[in-house]
Formats: sequence, structure tokens, C-alpha cells
Amino acid sequence: MSGATVTVIGRGATPRAFDRAGTGPADPQVAARLAELQEAARGRDAHGVLELALTGEFRGKTAVVSSFGSESAVLLHLVAEIDPNTPILFLNTGKLFGETLRYRDRLQEQLGLGDIRSLAPNAADRTRFDPDGILWSKDTDACCNFRKVIPLKRALEPFIAQITGRKRFQTRERAAMQPVEFFEGRFRFNPLADWTLQELEAYADRHCLPRHPLVEDGYPSIGCMPCTRRVQAGEDYRAGRWSGLDKDECGIHGVDGEGI
Ligand code: SF4
Repeated sequence: MSGATVTVIGRGATPRAFDRAGTGPADPQVAARLAELQEAARGRDAHGVLELALTGEFRGKTAVVSSFGSESAVLLHLVAEIDPNTPILFLNTGKLFGETLRYRDRLQEQLGLGDIRSLAPNAADRTRFDPDGILWSKDTDACCNFRKVIPLKRALEPFIAQITGRKRFQTRERAAMQPVEFFEGRFRFNPLADWTLQELEAYADRHCLPRHPLVEDGYPSIGCMPCTRRVQAGEDYRAGRWSGLDKDECGIHGVDGEGI
């Protein structure tokens, strides 16, 4: 995170899909439970919100989706303090930087994460849609769909809740984000909602959490290698993602704070 001085994602005329206001749960029982959870989360710190997300009715039924990117370590550390065997869903698209895979392994060892699930694209889909591995250069939406959206949707099916590392400071749309939401059929916990970048960095320092090695190399937001470039001074935080394309997200709804 150090070196990431720009904190607002300014690209795109419309909010990213997972930041758009939902209509809320249609089921009145779910709506009532959401109201209870929001009340229970009031006044709790990040650790307290995570306790809500990982105990009681949610024990064993909540997953974290992590990109093991530049902002992932703080959330993973907090989760590990409560239950290091919490399922962590990690999209191994086949196009990631080697540094990200090594960073995942380093955090796994340091934090004692016992249930990282690496999600690969379906082999038949890969043969069908991207036999040469260059679909990203022709149709990024189609590439993200079979490498990220479909595998994640499948992996999330058994879970009733999800934890994200999204922060209010990141976008205008996130500015009013609740610590507990309901989105696309699942409760969604945002324990870091009110954290600032300075608080994140201080936490990482205090707990000696390693930084993603590419942050120091000019990548404040890290995704797949073909679709991520270095960011120049003064550029937007996510300017290096799908640079030159009218694309700011991969269709995944609710990742760990920075998108994948
Ligand atoms: S970010 Fe690029 S390489 Fe990765 S899945 Fe999307 S289009 Fe493909």
C-alpha cells in the first residue's frame, strides 16, 4: 500500500456494479435479519464485525474472496485472528503475476491460512473460448467471464455470506456503505468500511504484514498481468487496470476491496 497516494477511483461514469445501491432483500424475513445484523454491527470495530460474520448462523458458511493484491493483507490478518480456517476464495486466472502467487503463499504461511481455495477456469471453457490464451487482447469481458465470473459464482454457491475489504474512502459510491449489506442473495460484511488508508498502513506496520512486492514497483492495484500496467505519478489509483479500455471491473461483485 505504501506509495498508493490516490485513494478515490475516479474512472467510469457509472458506479461499479458491486457499489450500486441494491433493492434490498425481497424476503421480509431476510430484510428483518439484515436490520438486526446492521444494528448488531453498530459501534463494533472491524474485529467485532468479523465475529458477527464468522460465528453463530454464519459459522462455516461465510467466505472471503481475496485477490491477494495490494490491500489484502489487513483483512486476511483480521480474519485469521478469529478463524484461520475461514475459506478464502482466490481466483487463479492463469494470467496472474508470479509475484501474486508467491505473495499468496507468503501470506498463507505467515497468517496460517488453512483453507485457501484457488479457483481455476474450467478446462473445457479454456479450450473452447481461449485456446491460444490471447482472448484478453480481443474481448476482455469474455475473458474475465470464463476466468473469473463463472468460477467464482460456482465457488460461492455453498456460502450464505461473504466478507469484503471494501472501504468508504475508495469511491463516492462506497461513501455511505454499511458494515452489513445484502447483495445478490448473500449477506455481505464490510468490516473495514470506515478505515482510512493511513489506518490500513499503520495496522500493516504494527503487525509486520508483508506488502505485495509489485506495489513498490509502481502497481497500486494489481490484477492479471496482461491487463495491468504501472501507474505514473498523478494518475488514478486504478489507471493501470485495463488501461486504454472502457472497462473498470471484471463483473465480480464484492471482492476484497480493490477488485481483481
Ligand atoms: S483481467 Fe485480463 S487476463 Fe484477467 S481475466 Fe480479465 S481480461 Fe482475462
